[in-house]
Amino acid sequence: MVPFLRPTLIYDGDVTKVQLDDLKKLNAAGLILDLDNTIMAPKSAKLEPEVKLWLELMKKNFKIVILTNNKKAFYLEAVRQVLELPVIGFAKKPWSIGIKEALDILKLSNDKIVVIGDRPLTDIWLGQRFKLKAILVKALTAHIEPKWKYYLRKLEWSFVNKSKG
Ligand SMILES: [Mg+2]
Repeated sequence: MVPFLRPTLIYDGDVTKVQLDDLKKLNAAGLILDLDNTIMAPKSAKLEPEVKLWLELMKKNFKIVILTNNKKAFYLEAVRQVLELPVIGFAKKPWSIGIKEALDILKLSNDKIVVIGDRPLTDIWLGQRFKLKAILVKALTAHIEPKWKYYLRKLEWSFVNKSKG
């Protein structure tokens, strides 16, 4: 298998480990955040206190759009209420369906946008396709997942080129 995904940064931790300074260094003005397992545990519609704090800080510094492949309209509405951010569902990452709407909302040049997500083949590939910067983080619930999910994640991470430069 040839690793073809090159995240701009890889974190050995969840989204709360992403520092404001790191994003400033990347020249970020806008963020496209994945939902499930990046910002919230799947199906929870709930922000953990640490993530909430992190998000408050990011909201003060960047334009933010949530982009998710989640297709449950009712759930997405609940998430919208909790986050008080634009939430685009049915995104079909890494394809073009939802990202166009996200770029429309952000109204920034692509090199000023950073995608942050836990999935190489959706979030990172999307970033790469649209020449956005992309940060790969660990899934929020990775530590309580069943074994099969762990192996699936490992397989997906095998597409990631971890060499520098
Ligand atoms: Mg995710």
